[in-house]
Amino acid sequence: MVILVTTEANKPVKPSGLAIMGGTFDPVHNGHLRTAVEILDHYHYSALKLVPCFQPVHKDRPSVSALQRLEMAKLATSSDVRLSVDAREIDREGPSYTIDTLRDIRSEIGAEESLIMVLGMDSFLSLPTWHDWQQLVKYAHLLVVSRPGWEPDLISELSAFCENYRAASSHELQCAPSGRVWFETLTPLGISSSMIRALARKNESIAYLLPEPVQQYIEQHQLYR
Ligand code: ATP
Ligand code: MG
Repeated sequence: MVILVTTEANKPVKPSGLAIMGGTFDPVHNGHLRTAVEILDHYHYSALKLVPCFQPVHKDRPSVSALQRLEMAKLATSSDVRLSVDAREIDREGPSYTIDTLRDIRSEIGAEESLIMVLGMDSFLSLPTWHDWQQLVKYAHLLVVSRPGWEPDLISELSAFCENYRAASSHELQCAPSGRVWFETLTPLGISSSMIRALARKNESIAYLLPEPVQQYIEQHQLYR
């Protein structure tokens, strides 16, 4: 079924482009989910997939198992048909390199479809430490979203990268399959997984920071204690 969306100009737009958001999701929270739905509403991409990593390359080991993080991501996305979870990094095991994931998805969707990788400003600023980072735009666009507490303070390597790939308008991300960088300001939500883990450890409430079914899962399995 093709859903046509009506814009302000009242012209129907056919949703196109696949958006993905990688992360540890330890646990998934409303900062991730609100980002996802705002992006889908603004841009009319056809879908957005959360891609939980198996083993983060630049972080300590997650505090709960990959299958538990996956389960929570599934619970969190079940209420919006446009959202889903892609388990390929968990299935692949080993260190989760984004470049491998993008290459994989690109080979599945073909050369023409627009692929948009959504990442927060904090992740974007760490990009030069990622494996083969300059090659990411070969497979996808980068859609960098604002995150409270993080300013776009670009080191020279990243500013040169942005100069090369910055899109003239967000529309370019839907017209080309890959190769552009775009910055978007969204509703600021100062929520992080580390904050939720810290609250749970102190036995304080984590309510309203994440979907209720995820909160229940955490309580039921006594995670982050
Ligand atoms: P941790 O505190 O453990 O680092 P986190 O909250 O940063 O967790 P991640 O799983 O590391 O969550 O983030 C996945 C992606 O979502 C990253 O690109 C990150 O920048 C983005 N993101 C996370 N929280 C927010 C938020 N509140 N607003 C915007 N983007 C966010
Ligand atoms: Mg983080």
